[in-house]
Amino acid sequence: MPRGLLGASVRSVTEVTDQDVERFRALIRVPTVSYAEEAAIEVGHFETFVELLAASFPLLHEHLDLVRILEHSLLLHWRGRSAADPVVLMAHIDVVPIDESAPWQHPPFGAEIHDGAIWGRGTLDDKGSLVGICTAVERLLADGFVPPRDVWLSFGAREEVSGPDAPAAVEELRARGVTPWFVLDEGGAIAHGAFPGVQPPLGVVGVSEKGTTTIELRAEGRGGHSSTPAPGGPTARIARAVVRLEKRQFAGSLPEPTLELFARMAPHVPAPLRPLFANARRVQPLLKRVLLASGAESAALVRTTMAVTTLSGSPAHNVIASSATAAVNLRILVGDTVASATEHVRKAIADDSIRLEVLDANEPSPVSPFDDPAFELLTSTIGELFEDAVPTPYVMMAATDSRYFTSICPRVYRFTPFRMTKAQRESIHSYDEHIGVDDWLNGVRWYTRLIERLPA
Ligand SMILES: [Zn+2]
Repeated sequence: MPRGLLGASVRSVTEVTDQDVERFRALIRVPTVSYAEEAAIEVGHFETFVELLAASFPLLHEHLDLVRILEHSLLLHWRGRSAADPVVLMAHIDVVPIDESAPWQHPPFGAEIHDGAIWGRGTLDDKGSLVGICTAVERLLADGFVPPRDVWLSFGAREEVSGPDAPAAVEELRARGVTPWFVLDEGGAIAHGAFPGVQPPLGVVGVSEKGTTTIELRAEGRGGHSSTPAPGGPTARIARAVVRLEKRQFAGSLPEPTLELFARMAPHVPAPLRPLFANARRVQPLLKRVLLASGAESAALVRTTMAVTTLSGSPAHNVIASSATAAVNLRILVGDTVASATEHVRKAIADDSIRLEVLDANEPSPVSPFDDPAFELLTSTIGELFEDAVPTPYVMMAATDSRYFTSICPRVYRFTPFRMTKAQRESIHSYDEHIGVDDWLNGVRWYTRLIERLPA
């Protein structure tokens, strides 16, 4: 590691940053990988992480009350000066597995520093936030700071596999009568290059998440030997259903947060597009058409999406399938529901002989207010630390643990206070995940300022 270079680049922030960065790197090196198969999870790494966290942040562990949730998730309670509703700061301990064939430039659990950035799985998703929050709290405690109101930290160990930990943390808070003022989890970022032609980065704060559901389609028939096939067998009907789904996409719709995003972005889009965005509310039909035609990413902004992910038929080449299946994974936009989406699928395939089974159902999250003092606190803190950014609400595509907290709190926000290029955003759950050392330190300052600025 080029120590001199690191020291020179970060000394302007605070004198103890080298140590902070070293603690962060050490925690990146613990491979806390979540697997869908419970048995594949190496619990020892999670124990190590929790122990190393305690050793790295002694004041935090001395002053905050710790509640272990299930095995390795942590809920920490920091008592404030007033009885005002507390805030919950969230992050997760686990990371997604490494694809062994992916061309990582640097070892995924090496936490090596190259070109002023720390490389490794979890640097952005989500140990950057977790260690960032802890570093901010530790510094404030060292200064003798007492928060104006209670602060809870909720660190989940099974976020990446939608495990039971976050719902259990919510139940713990509910049992203690905790009704948060707001909840902040990972999600948005200071996103550079988020929209073609838009120069300033967008400080996107997620105010809702798309829902998800998987629907299995099943067609049945007599099966038999493949030398005497009859028309209309299970595989043919499933294939027809898949093609019909592809043709009958969901209609577009523009949820309120998306309209607000466009309005805030309008002054920064290329001149010819400016009137379209500035008048987004009035020209919705046109805007929807433009976005639906502008590629998969922008289309996903304005409609519920469907992807046929798995297909099955006969297990042998010379046997006609007696049953064939296809799984359709849907990402449900605010405004649609699991029920309405299922109905759309049923109508689109227009075949009563195909049975539909909803395998999992997560409704879209309710929209958190973005005309509100809590949202204003987040965006004004963004303004302090990221002067060039345009803060704005948006609807998140991915799911986070914070969706469970909507049952105890109407203000759930998703924002990660780090600058991220498009390449960095694409590295999440992929390869070459890395975070700029200065960007991480600036994120630590953002969490610090957020806590300092909490009203009593
Ligand atoms: Zn994450």
